[in-house]
Amino acid sequence: MADHYEVLGVSKDASAEEIKRAYRKKARTLHPDVNPSPDAAEEFKQVTAAYEVLSDETKRRNYDMTGNANGTGATGGFGGGFGGFSDIFDTFFGGGGGARSGPASRTRRGQDALINVKIELEDAVFGVEKTIDLQTAVRCSVCDGSCAEPGTGTQTCETCHGQGQIRRPVQSILGTVMTAETCPSCRGFGDTIPNPCHECGGQGRVRERVSLTIKIPSGVDTGTRIQLAGRGEAGPAGGPQGDLYVEIKVGDHPVFSRDGADLTATMTLPMTAAALGTELTLDTFDGEQTIRVKPGTQSGSVETLKGLGVGLLRGNGRGDLKVTLKVETPTKLDDKQRELLEALATARSEHIVHGQTESKGLFSRRKKKNRDRD
Ligand SMILES: [Zn+2]
Ligand SMILES: [Zn+2]
Repeated sequence: MADHYEVLGVSKDASAEEIKRAYRKKARTLHPDVNPSPDAAEEFKQVTAAYEVLSDETKRRNYDMTGNANGTGATGGFGGGFGGFSDIFDTFFGGGGGARSGPASRTRRGQDALINVKIELEDAVFGVEKTIDLQTAVRCSVCDGSCAEPGTGTQTCETCHGQGQIRRPVQSILGTVMTAETCPSCRGFGDTIPNPCHECGGQGRVRERVSLTIKIPSGVDTGTRIQLAGRGEAGPAGGPQGDLYVEIKVGDHPVFSRDGADLTATMTLPMTAAALGTELTLDTFDGEQTIRVKPGTQSGSVETLKGLGVGLLRGNGRGDLKVTLKVETPTKLDDKQRELLEALATARSEHIVHGQTESKGLFSRRKKKNRDRD
């Protein structure tokens, strides 16, 4: 007896799909209906016998180990081990291993839902509870998801006798094969609902506006998605709820910005205050805070208020509040002010040229360098 793999022209490690494809290809040219020669008939038997073994996981394993399909005797002839016509049908018309047997269930899990929720920056700092309204599918309270009017039930489908499928013979190039179709009377469920629930129209769920209270933890940021398991849409026919995803958008704040777990702010102070030192008051999410500005503070320096930032999304603690100090140089000076500043410049030995002060620092050194080069 020829090797089954050789007969089908596939390798020893061919996948189930490859084996099926190889058989399909050969059977199309060898089947008695399309090829009446005796040689073809004989080859068709061999090809079919090979497919019968290699398409069955157990038989294939036995064949690989012992050289025959059942591990003891010889392999069965054509048709011996085939599981009825539907197997052939599935092989040729793509039903394959996914072909469903038996009726389908009406009950399915509900869909996941996504809603957008906008919160304020302060809510992201401390966390917040939000009550939101949303349109969703909920289990029908009249039939409790059974789909049938209370007091009534389902009835076994008379068309398919509860199978959910109808099998009937059709002619093909391979002769008569059986087709399996979803039963049109029960749509594959195997039973019918003679008296559908009046509330949900036999769906077992209705669309409703519901109010949900969501706990939003501190530390969320724009784009953060919170998953609420089992808070999505109710499934058909009493199916469980899907999940609800809440996508956060954090609104802008006029004073504070977000930098990860830190908050940032900018405060402006006059040049004289920066030079002399002062105290600034900042109204934060934790109340008024005093910022001590040391004498000689430079523009752009940052004061850090520890632990006044955003609460961490995971774990305890909070980020910091970082206040950038911006020193403002006066743009308009009256005569008195200019005199005072000029007196200050003189006292500091700052040489003024054409209304511009030339410090004894970097700038003058650079000028000297240029002269040296000339
Ligand atoms: Zn109902
Ligand atoms: Zn039916």
